[in-house]
Amino acid sequence: MLYFDFCRGWIFSSPRFGNSLLAARLPSAAEKTFSALISLVLPDDCRVCGDPLRNVSRIPVCPKCLTAPEPLAAEYLCAACRAPFASPWPLDEHGLCGLCRRGAHGFDAAYSYGFYDGTLRELIHLLKYGRIHTLAGPLGRFMALALPRDQRFDAIVPVPMHWRRRWERGFNQSVLLAQALAQRTGLPVWKAAARRSRFTPPQAGLTSAQRRDNMTRAFEVRKPDAVQGRRILLVDDVLTTGATASACARALKRSGAAHVAVLTVARADRRPAVPFQVSTASWGNDANSRSIA
Ligand SMILES: [Zn+2]
Ligand SMILES: [Zn+2]
Repeated sequence: MLYFDFCRGWIFSSPRFGNSLLAARLPSAAEKTFSALISLVLPDDCRVCGDPLRNVSRIPVCPKCLTAPEPLAAEYLCAACRAPFASPWPLDEHGLCGLCRRGAHGFDAAYSYGFYDGTLRELIHLLKYGRIHTLAGPLGRFMALALPRDQRFDAIVPVPMHWRRRWERGFNQSVLLAQALAQRTGLPVWKAAARRSRFTPPQAGLTSAQRRDNMTRAFEVRKPDAVQGRRILLVDDVLTTGATASACARALKRSGAAHVAVLTVARADRRPAVPFQVSTASWGNDANSRSIA
């Protein structure tokens, strides 16, 4: 029993407990080497909720957190860009929002698994800033779930990153997500189809119009012949205002792509918070009413 508890603490629980045992038995240098080896092959705590992991896995997140993100749901969604709305008034009789009616988006459709908040946001941050590349697999699964079954595509194009930013970060998370999605869909990934020709400042803090200006002509297509007449699935991690995806989609369409749909793991929820209960019963929508504080 003692042996069992020892093993459980050492192998399956928090490394803090394991380290205290090691500290009592091994000298410092050996402890460091041994701890490093242990952390390479044995589980840690879940990086999202902090619970001890019970299985050896290359993904340091517990199954509960990996299945927690909810699919996108809103009272109303634009039929093309899937932007969420709390009321039906921004949508026309075809279900299109103002931006889609004006052709302000460069893409034909946009799909996302869920909203960019809570656990889904944390998982994306762990991939992007925590450099846990193995999370691309579960996030790719979310993207596959968000992809409509009746849509056909010729290739996946990850939203390119400027070489300077890729050099700083060391990788492009969109490429990792595109590769994970390709494993599930069998579609080819055209990594080099487009490139970011202009280094743009970070978009955070800019208005939608400033983001669009910031992204003007930021992308170019390397092999226009390859995208000519093709249906392209443009993959990115998050859709915020859509300015980046729009600019890249425009470049693909200028080069002759027949259809460009954007697929992201998450999208920002830009619905205005209203301090009253929104009832949708009288609008003929069967979605549940939503109370927004
Ligand atoms: Zn967890
Ligand atoms: Zn729309």
